[in-house]
Amino acid sequence: MAETTTFSGNRALQIEEPLIFELGSAGRVGVDVADAPPVDEDRLSGLRRKAPIGLPDLSEPQVVRHYTRLSQKNYGIDTGFYPLGSCTMKHNPRLSEKMARLPGLVDLHPFQPQKTVQGALEVIDTLAHWLKGLTGMPAVAMSPAAGAHGEWCGLMAIRAYHDDHGENHRRRVLVPESAHGTNPASAAMCGYSVDPVPATDRGRVDVAALKAKLGPDVACIMVTNPNTCGLFEDEILEIAEATHAAGAFFYCDGANYNAIVGRVKVADLGVDAMHINLHKTFSTPHGGGGPGAGPTVLSEKLAPYAPLPFVVHDGDGLRMVEHPESSGGAKPFGRVKGYHGQFGVFIRALAYILSMGSDGLRQASSDAVLNANYLLARLGGTLTPSFEGPCMHEALFDDRFLKDSGVTTLDFAKALIDEGFHPMTMYFPLVVHGALLMEPTETESKETLDGYVEVVKALAAKAAAGGAADEFKAAPKYTPRRRLDETQAARSPVLRWKPGSNA
Ligand SMILES: *Cc1c(COP(=O)(O)O)cnc(C)c1O
Repeated sequence: MAETTTFSGNRALQIEEPLIFELGSAGRVGVDVADAPPVDEDRLSGLRRKAPIGLPDLSEPQVVRHYTRLSQKNYGIDTGFYPLGSCTMKHNPRLSEKMARLPGLVDLHPFQPQKTVQGALEVIDTLAHWLKGLTGMPAVAMSPAAGAHGEWCGLMAIRAYHDDHGENHRRRVLVPESAHGTNPASAAMCGYSVDPVPATDRGRVDVAALKAKLGPDVACIMVTNPNTCGLFEDEILEIAEATHAAGAFFYCDGANYNAIVGRVKVADLGVDAMHINLHKTFSTPHGGGGPGAGPTVLSEKLAPYAPLPFVVHDGDGLRMVEHPESSGGAKPFGRVKGYHGQFGVFIRALAYILSMGSDGLRQASSDAVLNANYLLARLGGTLTPSFEGPCMHEALFDDRFLKDSGVTTLDFAKALIDEGFHPMTMYFPLVVHGALLMEPTETESKETLDGYVEVVKALAAKAAAGGAADEFKAAPKYTPRRRLDETQAARSPVLRWKPGSNA
C-alpha cells in the first residue's frame, strides 16, 4: 500500500482503484435489456448454468471510470521518455495510426473472398517487397507475430532444410552468452540443444571459441547484430564464412535492425534468416506483450521452406497461397499462425516506411546511433561504460559506479521512477555486472535527453556521496504501489479473485 495521509486513500487525482469485482452492488445494470427469453433446456444437454454467472453489477459510469483510471496508471511511450534498452520503445507516428484505422482496411474479415481484398494483399505484398529490398534477402515469411515467433519460424525453416537434405543429425545451435533469452528458448522449442559461446572483453562474440564449437551436428548459429551490448559484431563476415563452411546456417537476431536499416544489407553479412521486429525498427506499437510482428527474411536456400500462407502474383492479380498443393512446388514447413499475420501492424509499418522513404530510414538509424552516443558521452564520466569506444543504438553501463554505495542497479532504477522516468533495462545483458542498458531511439529530442541525463547524474552523485542507501531502497515513493515482492509474485501468483477474498 502506498503511504498516504488522506482520508480517502487517494493522492490528489491519483485514485486508489479496487478490482472491478469489488465495485458495484447486486442487481445494478448499465444497460436496459428485455427480460431474457425462455431457454429451451433440452437443447443445452443439461449444461444450463445453475448459479449466477458471478459478474460484477455495475453502472456504465462505474465501468468507464474503472478502465479509464487503470489506463492512466500505465506508463507508455505516449506519456514519457522510455529509455528501455533492447526493446526499442520509439514514437508511434499518428499518421500510421490513422492509416490503420481507414474503414476500408479496418473492416475487413480474413474469410472474405480474395478478390474482394486485393488492396489488403497489396499492403502485405508491398511491405514484403520493402523488407526484402532493405535487407537484400530474396524471401520473407510475413506471418510470425513477434520477434521470438520469427526466431522460431526461421529455425523451423532451417530444420526443414536439414531434414530435407538428409542432415537431421544437425540438432545443436550455437548461441552467444549475450543473447536475448528468446534465442535459446526458440532453439529449445524447435527441438535443438543450445551451446553457449562466450564473449570477449570487447563485448563481442569470441570467434575462436565459436569456430571451435562448429561441427557436423551444428544446425545454425544465432547471432544478434548489432548485439545486445549495443556493439556491432565487426568480425561478422568471418563468423558467417566459418559457419557456412561447417554446413550450418547463420540465423541473425534482427531485433536491433533499427541501428543499421538503410545502411547495411544484411544479405551482404552472410545472413540466412533474420526476423525483423516491426514494433522496434518500423515504429509500430508494442501493446502489453502484443500485437507486434516478426516477419522473417530468408535466403535462397531457405525460401522454399517458408511457412504458409504467402502472397503471390498471378494472372488475376494477387493471391494468398493457403495450401501446399497450390504453392508452386515449394515445401512449406507448415503454418505459424492463424490467418495472415498481424495485419494492423503491417499497415502501420508500411505507412511508416512510405512516409520515411529509404533516405528517411537511413537518417533514422543514424540519429538513433547518434542519440545513444550522446547519452554515452554525457554519462560516461559519471556512470561506468562497460566497453570502450562508441556504441550503436544503445549505451551499456555496469554497476561499478555504485561500488561501496550500498545502492544496487535495482535501487537506482526504482529511484528513477520517482523522477518520472521509466527505468532503463536492468541486469541485461548478463555478460556485465549489474547492467544498465539505455536506448534513447531517434525520436527523442535533445531537451528530453538532457533532462534525463541531469537526473541520472544527480542520482549517481547522491549515491556516490554515501549514506543514501536506505533512501534508495525505499524508492519508489510516489507510485500507487511501492516495491513489490517480485519473487513471491512469480513463484505464487494470485491470478484469480474469489468472492470474499478482498484483503
Ligand atoms: C525484443 C528482442 C527479441 C524478441 O522480440 P519480441 O518481439 O519481443 O518477441 C529478441 N532478441 C532481441 C535482441 C530483442 O531485443
